[in-house]
Amino acid sequence: MRAIQVTQLGGPEVLQPAEVPDPMPGAGELLVRTDAIGVNFIDVYFRTGVYSTELPYIPGKEATGTIVDMADGVTGFSVGDRVAWALTPSSYAELVRVPVSAAVPVPAGIDPAVAASALLQGMTAHYLLTSVYAVQEGDTILVHAGAGGVGLLLTQLAVARGARVITTVSTEEKAALSRESGATEVLRYSSDISAKVRELTDGEGVAAVYDGVGKDTFDASLDSVRVRGTLALYGAASGPVPPFDPQRLNAAGSVFLARPSLAHFVRTRAELMWRSEEIFTALASGDVRLRIGAEYPLAHAADAHSDLEGRKTTGSIVLVP
Ligand code: NDP
Repeated sequence: MRAIQVTQLGGPEVLQPAEVPDPMPGAGELLVRTDAIGVNFIDVYFRTGVYSTELPYIPGKEATGTIVDMADGVTGFSVGDRVAWALTPSSYAELVRVPVSAAVPVPAGIDPAVAASALLQGMTAHYLLTSVYAVQEGDTILVHAGAGGVGLLLTQLAVARGARVITTVSTEEKAALSRESGATEVLRYSSDISAKVRELTDGEGVAAVYDGVGKDTFDASLDSVRVRGTLALYGAASGPVPPFDPQRLNAAGSVFLARPSLAHFVRTRAELMWRSEEIFTALASGDVRLRIGAEYPLAHAADAHSDLEGRKTTGSIVLVP
């Protein structure tokens, strides 16, 4: 089969198309032929060595496709079923071994590009809003990178829960997309973010900041949270936050700092199905729209990473095998 292989860590150019042996399903696994493959910032962290993995490896955690084979004894799925997954390694490939425990049925009518990028970013937005800080009607929150994959979904889901959403973005095009998704105030990083947030909240600050940008926004995030508010630091698109003194959380108003990860919020089959079904239902009903900013042939995965890291993408991006 064709796949993307990484033999050394580095820039996008290390994502090389390769012909590799077809995988066989192991115990408790499905073999899935992919229709579309999600590209996520976590794929960048593995490629650059922020997260470690053995070399060589096939990148990617998320995709959708059709079951073509399965291990003996697997129940609940049949050959021909459409499934999607969010945290299964080696997904930048035509064929992927998917543990039954990680596979989620894809409802009829969901486009493959949407199904390929709904789970990782959608379930992240879902756990951040329900389980890290449960957003309440009337809350004001701040979402960084408001036009990104997670950012657009987080904004729409928070607005649906009755929140007022302030976002940050880097360009006018991204500002327009963020407003379309329901943000009422859209700020630029170059502005004094915390001063603007205080101005917009009568000096109070926001109930929660959802920060996937990291190093460049962390200080402004901490300065924007209200007393006893939550700072959910869930990513590091601009680089990791340097070590800091916990006393700053006290000085900022007994702020709760979380550094959560999706894997810890889909630990059981019941939790995975709850979050994925809510996301797929919201997409199927049109309550939430998932923007596919760009599609790339699988062999051009390097271009997808280059655009994602270069802040050129909006919404979610996918690879097509
Ligand atoms: P995005 O589509 O949001 O892309 C990243 C965005 O970050 C860019 O478009 C850019 O938007 C913004 N950004 C700000 N500074 C930089 C910089 N220096 N370099 C690159 N981008 C920058 O990506 P995803 O939706 O895939 O992921 C968003 C974040 O969520 C990532 O940090 C990712 O790691 C995290 N994540 C965390 C999970 C978890 O469970 N903890 C799970 C899933 C994602 P702009 O130009 O507007 O600034």
